[in-house]
Amino acid sequence: MKTRTVIAFQSPLGAPVEIIKHTFSPHGGKPVKRISFVAGLHGDELEGVALCHRLIRHLQSLKETEPEAFRGEIHIYPAANPLALATSTRLWPFFSVDMNRQMGDGTDGSLPSQTATALLEDLKSGSDLVVDFHASNLHLLELPQIRILEEFRRKLVPLATLCNMDLIWVHPSSGVFEATLGYNLNRVKIPTLVVETGICLRVHRDFQEQIFQGMLHLLRHTRILVPSGPAPRVKPPRLLQPSQVALAQARQAGLFLAEVKAGDTVPRGARLGELIDPVGGQVLEAVQAPCAGLVFTLRLHPLTYPGAPLARLAKEESDPP
Ligand SMILES: [Zn+2]
Repeated sequence: MKTRTVIAFQSPLGAPVEIIKHTFSPHGGKPVKRISFVAGLHGDELEGVALCHRLIRHLQSLKETEPEAFRGEIHIYPAANPLALATSTRLWPFFSVDMNRQMGDGTDGSLPSQTATALLEDLKSGSDLVVDFHASNLHLLELPQIRILEEFRRKLVPLATLCNMDLIWVHPSSGVFEATLGYNLNRVKIPTLVVETGICLRVHRDFQEQIFQGMLHLLRHTRILVPSGPAPRVKPPRLLQPSQVALAQARQAGLFLAEVKAGDTVPRGARLGELIDPVGGQVLEAVQAPCAGLVFTLRLHPLTYPGAPLARLAKEESDPP
């Protein structure tokens, strides 16, 4: 494994801050394909950081025992926003800037913007395929999923299907995505899968295992890695259009106490939980499933305001519109 610094900048208080890239090269000859894994663009999303660690350890051990298994080139960027990771914040501290909204045209020359550009250019020059790991926000737990913009679906859905996800969610395109890493790489025809899983500031062991197996399967299917032994088994994901996603929202302020788990399949009208008034002592709402389906997003941060998302369901095919 070779380690290189993509960009380094001086911090006011000492050692420089660096974005690191680890590379596993093919066992001789040209790489059949080059893949990059990126984590930690949002500094409070630790799922991808832990996944990169798992991948690095696995690949290091395979390099010792079966070096001929490496046919492609694998790059891992385990901490793409080191200052934000060091402070466990989504945004780049001091600038309060979202590094995943600094990519592509219209950058402003600030340090976060220069760093985002350096990362994007490095990925463009060294990748034929990219996986960008994200976790959810502070409030909602997500089952492992890949989110795809409509305009890139033809190329990305077949690749996403290899990754052992619960869901592939196809979104309509929107201007808000145009400064993201995923959009800018897909736009220049480097297929980029944006994984969303878990909840921020946590690492979910079962999801880690599921996605790790998915990444090994992706590496094998693309022939970047051809180890001996059986291929990992992966499950087929559900492919979701926007019309197949139903949202349960809080009608008022309160405390949401869930009675289901993410991953449960529920009938229409099933109790998802209740919204209580913790001060007055009343139950404000019995929260019901808006359709029959799979609970793939669930609110874990219980405080709500009117309109707060409580759960998202992937509608059963048989559920009437
Ligand atoms: Zn993120």
